[in-house]
Amino acid sequence: MFKRVTVLVLILGLFAACQAEVQVIDKPKIMVSLFPQYDIIRQIAQDKVDVEFFLPAGVEPHNYEPSASTLMRIVEADLLVYTSEGLEPWVKRLVEGNALEGLVLLDASQGISLIEADHEHEDDEEEEAEFDPHYWLDPLNMIIMSESILNALIEIDPENEVFYTTNAEAYIASLNDLDASWKDLFERSALNQIIYGGHFAFGYLSHRFGLEILSPYSGYAPDAEPSAQALAGLMDVLKEKDIHVIFYEELIDPRVARIIAEQAQVEIEVLHGAHNLSVEDMQAGWTYISIMEDNIAKLKEALRYE
Ligand SMILES: [Zn+2]
Repeated sequence: MFKRVTVLVLILGLFAACQAEVQVIDKPKIMVSLFPQYDIIRQIAQDKVDVEFFLPAGVEPHNYEPSASTLMRIVEADLLVYTSEGLEPWVKRLVEGNALEGLVLLDASQGISLIEADHEHEDDEEEEAEFDPHYWLDPLNMIIMSESILNALIEIDPENEVFYTTNAEAYIASLNDLDASWKDLFERSALNQIIYGGHFAFGYLSHRFGLEILSPYSGYAPDAEPSAQALAGLMDVLKEKDIHVIFYEELIDPRVARIIAEQAQVEIEVLHGAHNLSVEDMQAGWTYISIMEDNIAKLKEALRYE
């Protein structure tokens, strides 16, 4: 009798172990290359998918190339969500060089009206994308991205359609609230100019709300060096407009912003473009929406929101 019970427990235990293993294997595997899209996936799919955000924490996405082992995991996944061929030219090579059976590819820029690269900010030395790649900085584009991601999730995992749709609706509602906060900021602010010691990432906000961004940089590439002339021009604007804060971008040492701020004796603050998070911010649970709420709070001070 005792022996029988033991055997039965063992069998049940094995059965449970197998089931647990099967469940893990069964989760759709998603590979994603940029933080905003990763955040949308985790808000909508939660624990129903196995998602890997493969841009390493703290790494800037411009000029990033996935390693051979990452490419291998992409090929074996069910869904790849990427930003655009402009920002991620390796996607084109991956598609051309592999059969990619069973992999759904989602270009997250699909359905979005991309704005042309600002020619004033074009950099002669580097090959520039024809379109400004930072479309995720307009919350209305985040809504379009959420809808595309929802459709892709339903395509690879139709069983959880109701779950995904419910979460997507809730997430889109909070993106609409965020959009209302951006509108309110620009409607009730006395100023519309900021000085930004970073690469030109906020073109979509600038385009939609008339925010004027003065930058010593001339292109999208964050490693470009500003000219002495551009720096001197900014110093003049600072004094003329009585600006008290210089913004800098995330993930890059704010060397240039610091130089200008020290000379002009003003504050520096990060204005986060949500390309990626640092290891600390990732662990602290930052989301696209919390990043943007923080940006709005800082801009309220800088633009003299009433
Ligand atoms: Zn950028």
